[in-house]
Amino acid sequence: MRDFSRGIEWLSINQATTRAQWSLEQAIAGYARQDVRGIAIWRDKLAECGVKRAATALRAAGMTVTGLCRGGMFPAADQAGRQAAIDDNRRAIDEAVGVRAQCVVLVVGGLAQGSKDIAGARGQVRDGIAAILPYARAAGMPLAIEPLHPMYAADRACVNTMKQANDLCDELGEGLGIAVDVYHVWWDPELEREIRRAGKTRILAFHVCDWLVPTTDLLLDRGMMGDGIIDIPRIRGWVEDAGYDGFAEVEIFSANNWWKREPEEVVRVCAERHRSVV
Ligand code: ZN
Repeated sequence: MRDFSRGIEWLSINQATTRAQWSLEQAIAGYARQDVRGIAIWRDKLAECGVKRAATALRAAGMTVTGLCRGGMFPAADQAGRQAAIDDNRRAIDEAVGVRAQCVVLVVGGLAQGSKDIAGARGQVRDGIAAILPYARAAGMPLAIEPLHPMYAADRACVNTMKQANDLCDELGEGLGIAVDVYHVWWDPELEREIRRAGKTRILAFHVCDWLVPTTDLLLDRGMMGDGIIDIPRIRGWVEDAGYDGFAEVEIFSANNWWKREPEEVVRVCAERHRSVV
């Protein structure tokens, strides 16, 4: 396992962590000022900036883009809705190529409006990924399914475990992998086995933050690494034993804490915790 206490060359920050404070260009500059070499980008922020301008700023800062957030959201109540999702995912792939992202992160979507059919939703997710995969392969852009904690199964992602993600990768094949986010998978009794099963080729990203006890908001109360109960080094050890040697990406949605702090402080604490508890 790599020794992160020595430095932050493997630290990436998902710009959601400072999304309330900084635009994309501000985030690139702000992270670079503290020697952070990786960033994950959100499409709404990218749209504000423009792909060309972002690519120039990223290149100037020497920044690796560890993921573009996000594609997915496949299930819909009708065919037109499903096709719209497929079209939007193709645009996400184009944008990811434009900023040289390492992958497009797929938050696959939950139940369609008015539906109670979660098996059907999972089928629509499989069909949606299958529909965009040839386009992604042709573009040379890997797709990373991010299994989300089951509390999001209704409205964000009905792929909730590494096992489900691995099964989809088995079925759909090359060009598809997984983003392992400790926040979503730390509780899973099959986690170690499924990380091993995923292996080096499938693990496309590794996201870190922490699970606070109590958690006061299902979406916007993620903790800084070290402030919660996730044994992050243990999970990183499993991921690295499987062959992963990329960035550890900090991704914190925190409406009442980290989004209210000075962004320079947020970046500084991310770097400190990366060295001490990741
Ligand atoms: Zn994540």
